[in-house]
Amino acid sequence: MRFLVNSNHLLPERCLSGNSSRISQIPIIPQPLLNYKFPFNPKLQLLLAGKQILLDDIPFPFDEIQSHYENGYITYRKGIEYQGKLPVCVRCGNKDPQQFGSFMCARCGEQCLYCRHCIMMGRISECTPLIGWNGSEPVTEVPDKIMGWSGTLSKGQQEASDLVVEAILQNKEWLIWAVCGAGKTEVLFAGIEAALSAKKRICIATPRTDVVLELFPRLKAAFPAIDIAALYGGSEDRHVYAPLTIATTHQLLRFYHAFDAIILDEVDAFPYTVEESLQYAAIQARKPVSAMIYLTATPNQKWQRECRSGQRNFTTIPARFHRHSLPVPQFKWCGNWQKLLYKDKLPPNVIQWVKSRLDSGKQALLFFPHIPMMEKALAILRPLTPNIEAVHAEDPERKEKVQKMRSKELKLLLTTTILERGVTFPNIDVAVIGAEDIIFTESALVQIAGRAGRSKDYPDGVVTFFHYGKTEEMLKARRQILMMNREGFKVGLLDRESFKKEGRI
Ligand SMILES: [Zn+2]
Ligand SMILES: [Zn+2]
Repeated sequence: MRFLVNSNHLLPERCLSGNSSRISQIPIIPQPLLNYKFPFNPKLQLLLAGKQILLDDIPFPFDEIQSHYENGYITYRKGIEYQGKLPVCVRCGNKDPQQFGSFMCARCGEQCLYCRHCIMMGRISECTPLIGWNGSEPVTEVPDKIMGWSGTLSKGQQEASDLVVEAILQNKEWLIWAVCGAGKTEVLFAGIEAALSAKKRICIATPRTDVVLELFPRLKAAFPAIDIAALYGGSEDRHVYAPLTIATTHQLLRFYHAFDAIILDEVDAFPYTVEESLQYAAIQARKPVSAMIYLTATPNQKWQRECRSGQRNFTTIPARFHRHSLPVPQFKWCGNWQKLLYKDKLPPNVIQWVKSRLDSGKQALLFFPHIPMMEKALAILRPLTPNIEAVHAEDPERKEKVQKMRSKELKLLLTTTILERGVTFPNIDVAVIGAEDIIFTESALVQIAGRAGRSKDYPDGVVTFFHYGKTEEMLKARRQILMMNREGFKVGLLDRESFKKEGRI
């Protein structure tokens, strides 16, 4: 779109003839003062409050949008800004010149630069305004009884829960470092309740769609009378205004200064860790004064250091709710397993490990660093049992196979790191074949070990890392698990018997 600046207003070119510019070229975008007498459209308010979206995403006539702008209710922001001569995408923060393209644009009639990085959310180009809301926020009614959940928390969960409430009410940043299987969702409930009753808008964001889908029914059950929006690629709630939102971190790209509190789950998970735009989106989606709660079982090295040196507010939940210690990985050297696989063989100690699970009838997850090796291993192991499958990220039958594992139809499931987190099978042992591979970072290995022993009925599980040379990451993962067990015991979250099994007392 092209605009003119006329008596300190933006005017779309089609309203007036003359010398217009693309929004990116207008030095300062004028923002008319709010006219309190203007009868604004509450539907536009619901659609736009806390958002930054494209005109194409607004199902209202343009004249109505423009009149809301002229009366101060709508903001136009540049989709692409220039820092010196370098373009920056305002929506996703992309500054990489390689990630911009240009095209002959029908809307502005010029060669128009656009951001390739966030194009899946609709094209942002030099002539694209980002539309937002400048009026008051919609008022949401909150019922007297907000929470329907009446479970009890463990001592460790309770302490973390109290800190979440405090951080949300006092707009602090806080990291909750909770071991795999600590029961972290329940830890959030009191904080969500406190936010809602203080009329704060709150969002739980996670890098993975699976988690959004899994959390939604649990939150709906815990907060039955609250409107909850679930946002992920292709979801129908895209334009729903709700006091409680659960979203993938990608979806945060559509928000701007929206939330009084964001709970960022699994900050260490792909793609959040590698895509700077998602970290940028999370910051943009917060109100300038707001709370940020980070939730993870495996903070990265930098964060761990900041925790140790007192530079980061954090609290740990060092033990599982069932008071049994975390299974500690055993390291087993298995020689050059890749060479053996090329000869259609697996290391004898791996075969032995698998056979003993099949004999005892215990289910097992076997992690492989790469798909082709996993497929080879599948062919080798299949003669031992027909109840075996292999799964990876692009597997169209991924859900069915995981379901078969849950219903115990399968005895063995071979997998890539895709199942390193988010899945719970009650009674399994876990092995990693080739734990020395670079794909198995400290965080991945802690998550993988965290698959075992999660249920209170089966709190023990064997975790074995088969390797062809120990790595620093393997050692760090084991150290982290031992540290959490020690801390859990020290603060009284672990049963003595369970800790004793480790041979440490
Ligand atoms: Zn254009
Ligand atoms: Zn972008």
